[in-house]
Amino acid sequence: MTARGERRLRTGHPWIYRSDLRRVAAGPGDVVQVSGGDRRPLGYGLYSSRSVIALRMLTRRDARPGAAFWRARLEAAIRYRESLDIDSTAYRLVHGEGDRLPGLVVDRYGDALVVQALTQATDRLLPLIGELLVELLQPAGILARNDPQVRALEGLDRSVELRHGSVPPEIEVREGAIRHVVDPWQGQKTGLFLDQRENRLAAARYARGRAFDGFSYTGGFALQMAPACDEVETVDVSESVAAAVTRNAERNGAANVRSRAANVFDALRDHDRKGERFDTIVLDPPAFAKNRGAAPRALAGYKEINLRALRILSPGGTLLTSSCSYHVDEPAFARMLAEAAADARADVRVVERRLQSRDHPVLATAPETSYLKCVVLRRM
Ligand code: SAH
Repeated sequence: MTARGERRLRTGHPWIYRSDLRRVAAGPGDVVQVSGGDRRPLGYGLYSSRSVIALRMLTRRDARPGAAFWRARLEAAIRYRESLDIDSTAYRLVHGEGDRLPGLVVDRYGDALVVQALTQATDRLLPLIGELLVELLQPAGILARNDPQVRALEGLDRSVELRHGSVPPEIEVREGAIRHVVDPWQGQKTGLFLDQRENRLAAARYARGRAFDGFSYTGGFALQMAPACDEVETVDVSESVAAAVTRNAERNGAANVRSRAANVFDALRDHDRKGERFDTIVLDPPAFAKNRGAAPRALAGYKEINLRALRILSPGGTLLTSSCSYHVDEPAFARMLAEAAADARADVRVVERRLQSRDHPVLATAPETSYLKCVVLRRM
């Protein structure tokens, strides 16, 4: 390891780039011992032969991690969730680096688990991790949703396969008072956007009057808000998603939810042109910036939808607006919102600044683990 690599390790960041490795005697996905320039042992990490992130540190201790190590890390992740009093049967049990389990995701949907191995090492370790999850949690089934694009960066193929028991294509889960039907096999991410769970519950506390849920997916925000609203309009570009919103609304007896398949940019422009007004607006777009270079264009997109939303927001109304682009950081997001408010000639207060749900923990020493921003604004 180079001196620069060692300095980085001392900051507590788990990622070491390939350019900071001096000599490598390891194969793809090996658990490797890491040592400094003077051969002093620095701990153990997970090696990737392909990613620019060549090493993800696991531990600073000088003992080779075995099954007991992985069991303890998984147990710690499970215990942390138990401590959060999560009022839902769907949540994230393991959030990679945030749980000191780099490259591993485990989501719980009722008694089914969905796992994702995002690095060569976690891919190799998945059989062991599966066994430990069965031992610790006795799930009815484990599905490996190993289809995210990032696996390509690791030279891994993309697949979806059952690893244990059985996992049906429809699982009913509960989030607060709302029930959702989740398809863990084909739904986006692992079925639900679990990182917004607490923000959905927050939206329910602010919701009233006429509401708009932009980028709704299966209606997560809309369903939470519906009991407090006169009517809720959901907009998502996907036709199949709009149908799922309707089914979810029926299941929850929410007769005031209307779903629409449309582009949110167009929908907001139409409402603005027609002088429509809303008392509650949620914007939860997909990541507009997938890399650093895309940040300026992404900010222009965020500004457009937020400006339009503020124009059609009634005085006293609430806008709950999110960005899940890591490359658009909190200060940039706040500046964009200020510009949108100024251009919309709207006086707005910042009521809350929120993050991803607590079951997606942020590792204090790794800023990359904090990606979701959610700001609650109130028009004066
Ligand atoms: N709010 C949702 C998650 C939203 S994910 C929840 O809490 O569950 C983002 C969604 O935006 C996806 O469902 C995607 O289909 C949709 N989408 C992407 N671009 C869009 C656009 N331009 N207009 C409308 N929907 C879009």
